[in-house]
Amino acid sequence: MLTVPGLCWLCRMPLALSHWGICSVCTYALTPRITVCPQCGLSAVSQIVPCGRCLQKPPPWNALVAVNDYVPPLSRLIHAFKFARQTTLASSLARVLLLALLAARRSRALPRVDLIVNVPLHRRRHWRRGYNQSDLLCRPLAYWLNCRYVPSAIKRVRATAIQHQLSASLRKRNLKKAFHLELPVKGLHIAIVDDVVTTGSTIAELSRLLLQSGAASVQVWCLCRTL
Ligand SMILES: [Zn+2]
Ligand SMILES: [Zn+2]
Repeated sequence: MLTVPGLCWLCRMPLALSHWGICSVCTYALTPRITVCPQCGLSAVSQIVPCGRCLQKPPPWNALVAVNDYVPPLSRLIHAFKFARQTTLASSLARVLLLALLAARRSRALPRVDLIVNVPLHRRRHWRRGYNQSDLLCRPLAYWLNCRYVPSAIKRVRATAIQHQLSASLRKRNLKKAFHLELPVKGLHIAIVDDVVTTGSTIAELSRLLLQSGAASVQVWCLCRTL
């Protein structure tokens, strides 16, 4: 995937504002017109009331906002952003997420957040990749929303095996005591920003940590929600 300044990443048409990266036609096409559960973000019959799965076994976070499922062309963009060092995509992807968030705020009661946090990488993995993709999404979002962002709010204190290679129960065990909270969060409404949420075990562990430390609510903002 090549960057051509001033052209849309997807359709290669000239952009009205070059820093957008993705034109408004392609941005619209990235957003699905299916109904998803407001809490788990998976396909459901209502986008106001949590789905049956969430009513039976609610995830530890309060609400989830995602742009789309992990489908092309969004998945291609994320792959380039995450694994092909195309970090210039960060603000374009963050903008698509911002639009999904603003749409969600219009259609359901989401409290404004006081603090944005990223999903920390262990320092070894961070060093190998050279950047934390979640951090690169948080920075423009915090700026646009005029919201506090603390990059090192949560530390990954233990290196964990790569999640997608493990079964669900192993994922949970793998993450036990993997994170440490570095600042007081009592009474704060917090958003965790992630690129792709699959089983949700990492953000579940982070949400539990924040809520057990006194956070008022936890929202998850991600580019893709998939299973
Ligand atoms: Zn386009
Ligand atoms: Zn649900």
